[in-house]
Amino acid sequence: MKMILLGAPGAGKGTQAEIISQRLGVSIIGTGNIIREAIASGSALGKKFQSYTDRGALVPDDLVVEMVADRLTQPDCSGRYILDGFPRTVVQAEKFAEMGGRVDAVINLVISDDEIMKRMTGRRVCETCGTPYHIHNNPPAQQGICDKCGGALVTRKDDAPETVAKRLLVYHEQTEPLVDFYRARGVLTAIDATQGMDRVTEEILAAVGEN
Ligand code: AMP
Repeated sequence: MKMILLGAPGAGKGTQAEIISQRLGVSIIGTGNIIREAIASGSALGKKFQSYTDRGALVPDDLVVEMVADRLTQPDCSGRYILDGFPRTVVQAEKFAEMGGRVDAVINLVISDDEIMKRMTGRRVCETCGTPYHIHNNPPAQQGICDKCGGALVTRKDDAPETVAKRLLVYHEQTEPLVDFYRARGVLTAIDATQGMDRVTEEILAAVGEN
């Protein structure tokens, strides 16, 4: 099963990708995480990425597509995978198809802009391993500490309210057209992302025939 998780920033893509990856033993191709790792490494490419992420803009298509092509060559991506945060534009979706990237199911996590604004303020991420948390919806066992690696949980700079507003604009302009793109290909399932986290997981698993 090759699945894309689609939805606005804050819809719960990263959280659901983690849960489903563990439940099914499937790898995640998460462009946001790969980009954050590059930024954390301090490399020249990371610095370039940061100039986009800090202002809520998308990283240019060519760079992201190259990153995904590279990730796809790794052995854990030869079978099933979950794409989290990619594609983000129709151009990326087209290039992904051109490179032979297959998609069996696209899950659209549906949520209003208002609800996203509320959610974002509670988001935290492990600064070491990138695991996402939420102070109310998905808290760690111990406040401020990652369950997986013991790393410190921090608020991402791109989760600041003004950046979130910009990211929502970018989402509506550049990413939302993918809903029609994949609906036209008959692989889209819309799921209400405001339901409880467990319910959303069950609906995703049912949609991909893994329940
Ligand atoms: P995410 O964690 O998926 O919300 O990604 C964080 C940031 O990384 C986004 O706001 C973008 O700046 C960048 N990013 C992640 N995935 C992509 C992508 N597929 N295309 C362009 N930029 C991306």
